[in-house]
Amino acid sequence: MNVLITGGAGFIGSHLADALLRRGDSVAVLDNLSTGSAENIRALDGRPGFSFTHAALDDGPVLDRLARRADAIVHLAAAVGVHLILDRPTQAIETNVLGSHALLDAARRYGCRTLIASTSEVYGKSKAVPFSEDADLVFGPPNRTRWVYGVTKLLDEFLALAAHQEHGLPLTIMRFFNVVGPRQTGRFGMVLPRFVRQALLGQPLTVYGDGRQTRCFCHVTDIVRAIVILLDQPMSQAEIFNVGSDHEVTIGELAEQIIERADSSSPIRYLPYEEAYAAGFEDLRRRVPDISKIAAEIGWTPTYLLPKILDDMIDFERNRMT
Ligand code: UDP
Repeated sequence: MNVLITGGAGFIGSHLADALLRRGDSVAVLDNLSTGSAENIRALDGRPGFSFTHAALDDGPVLDRLARRADAIVHLAAAVGVHLILDRPTQAIETNVLGSHALLDAARRYGCRTLIASTSEVYGKSKAVPFSEDADLVFGPPNRTRWVYGVTKLLDEFLALAAHQEHGLPLTIMRFFNVVGPRQTGRFGMVLPRFVRQALLGQPLTVYGDGRQTRCFCHVTDIVRAIVILLDQPMSQAEIFNVGSDHEVTIGELAEQIIERADSSSPIRYLPYEEAYAAGFEDLRRRVPDISKIAAEIGWTPTYLLPKILDDMIDFERNRMT
């Protein structure tokens, strides 16, 4: 299969490119290297079937050329990370909405099988834990930039579903929940790589709020396995799947476990939300996916438990720092 991966130089995309090349697919990566990095795909350069195009997602002629050759597209390119979204909301809206619109346009022109990455953020501040795919979505007011990311990704879902309904685009939507693993960077706010780095540098681990908020972390290897299985499905119906782990941990416990597993003497520093983010930031107390749909339909469940995830990330970060 010829697969186009947008955002293929990013954290998830580069792992996916590697897995697809290993199973004999051809992979074209499109990335503007804004949050992705050439380093992530350096090892793929020169592998048979691999190509890289450095261009923006809304570059029509480039998209047309790549989509024409693709049997399938995995659309991962997006503005990601809480800090980036809060600092530059206009750029986030443009990238996520206009970029996806251009991509979907090219995909439907050539009837490419299309997998779109969405996010747990589309559930907003819903309290209906665990979140199931057909649950109501609950956002805060628009003067809280917190909700920009979720709303733009939700609009992507609507655009994609419309392309399926009006043009028969073969489509699957994946709502990822806190994907973590080697190559992820903490620069844009993600908690796990930040804590691992802080622990290895002997700096305080900065827990925001009271640390009793929870998340479920899923290893990128499990996520890639789900994407690869979904790529091979018929896609006659446009389905939405939660993809993530349902093993819940508080952020405070996470910090403690990282300190222990990294053999670090770092203290934990609790930071009020007002100091960590702009005033009025609303954090989510609990975020847990209901993964019964993907388990029933393709037999996928995550295999990495938290201790293994942490060890993997600690090892990776240690190597990167030496
Ligand atoms: N968080 C934290 N310290 C950090 C970064 C994040 O305590 O240095 C918290 C954050 O407030 C949230 C959780 O960790 O409650 C997960 O944050 P992240 O940005 O990784 O993902 P998301 O909020 O999108 O789930």
